[in-house]
Amino acid sequence: MPPRRQLSGAAEVRKSNEKRGQFKERCRQGVEIHESGFKVYPCRHCTSENKECFIMPEKYEKCNACTRRGKSCVREFHTEILRDGAMPMDILETKMKAWTDASK
Ligand SMILES: [Zn+2]
Repeated sequence: MPPRRQLSGAAEVRKSNEKRGQFKERCRQGVEIHESGFKVYPCRHCTSENKECFIMPEKYEKCNACTRRGKSCVREFHTEILRDGAMPMDILETKMKAWTDASK
């Protein structure tokens, strides 16, 4: 059997539309996080790009930039927690959950 690498024309179009759709959705989510989330100590990616980093832990596990690029979001736990100093426990828990989820 020859390898079935060749997609039919229609399947090819469907696949590229799908990819474009995912990219558009990721961009939309990235903007949503940027607008509705809150600014945090930058993740590894945002640090290396020298960008501001926003997260929306109640809804998304990655920051705006990592959501948009579809890559993992690596955070430095200690700086993240220490950045804001004292805070209500529920917020701290949300932050810690965001961090542990993001580093999975
Ligand atoms: Zn990130």
